[in-house]
Amino acid sequence: MTHPALRSLRVPLLLAATACSSSTTTATSTTATDGGTTTAAGDGGVTTTADGGVTATGLHDLTTCTTSIAADAPAFYKKFFKCVTVTTTADGVNVAYNGLPPHKSYYYGQGNVNFADFDTSRGPTYKPNPNKIVGRTRTVSVPSAPVSRGLTITPAMVDRKAGTNPNEYRMGAAGVAIDSVVIFNDQAAGQDNIDDERFTFDSYDAHPAPSGEYHYHTTSPGPLEVLKALGFATTTKPGDAEVELYGVMCDGALVLGCTELDGKAPDGATLDGQNGHVTDIVDKDGVTHFTGRYHTHVCPKLFTTHKYTPEIQFYSTCTVK
Ligand SMILES: [Zn+2]
Ligand SMILES: [Zn+2]
Repeated sequence: MTHPALRSLRVPLLLAATACSSSTTTATSTTATDGGTTTAAGDGGVTTTADGGVTATGLHDLTTCTTSIAADAPAFYKKFFKCVTVTTTADGVNVAYNGLPPHKSYYYGQGNVNFADFDTSRGPTYKPNPNKIVGRTRTVSVPSAPVSRGLTITPAMVDRKAGTNPNEYRMGAAGVAIDSVVIFNDQAAGQDNIDDERFTFDSYDAHPAPSGEYHYHTTSPGPLEVLKALGFATTTKPGDAEVELYGVMCDGALVLGCTELDGKAPDGATLDGQNGHVTDIVDKDGVTHFTGRYHTHVCPKLFTTHKYTPEIQFYSTCTVK
């Protein structure tokens, strides 16, 4: 019954001893919440179920979740990710997450400690879908040296319709946010339209698929709560935070908000059909995390043509298991 994603819990214990400043927070939260021995109620009340899934039986949030980042993982993951397990591979990293958002949601279901009422202040157009959150540990593999497909992504290629372009991201999980919530592309399943489906979003602009897989398609306060906890932002309102980073896609593309990682305004003139461009990714402390890395900006208030996560996969590989 050992939770596979928790096997590397000993690694952060080692990190604590090395006094690596970027890992200390991670190590502290891991040891404080779990102790590295059992999974039952160890990860913020997350319990493994008989069918191998996970369920939240206690409060699951940024202060109680388990974060485990391998000592040899890139600083980007050590510095910005919470509630995930990151291990290194021959050509990149595996980011494992349990599918349970570390924030309250209507979709946890009434009676769950993480339940929150559906926000009706947004008007009658907003109605919840019938799905409930089902946790299951999955892994997004992110290449460290992604290979460009050489695409010039035009607005016409970004039509929010599945199956209209061979370079679309896979349906379902296609990336992972810095708060461990999975990122889907901008497409709704079947005949559905994301512009309609967004009315089922909870207070974190997310919802679960029929499978129970809870996910983002656009901006959310969730990842910004991580940045606030880390001291990179003072507000969690999308569009207003000093730094807005959402996550990483399976091919190595990054998803940012209305800012670059250092807080500067993106150069709108260089953005493609899904608000993407290639620049070095430098954080507020002057650390260069990626050189010449494709990333998109989800910033509905500035870049109004495309308000969602990327649709077209810029780099060659995407592995989600
Ligand atoms: Zn969706
Ligand atoms: Zn940018």
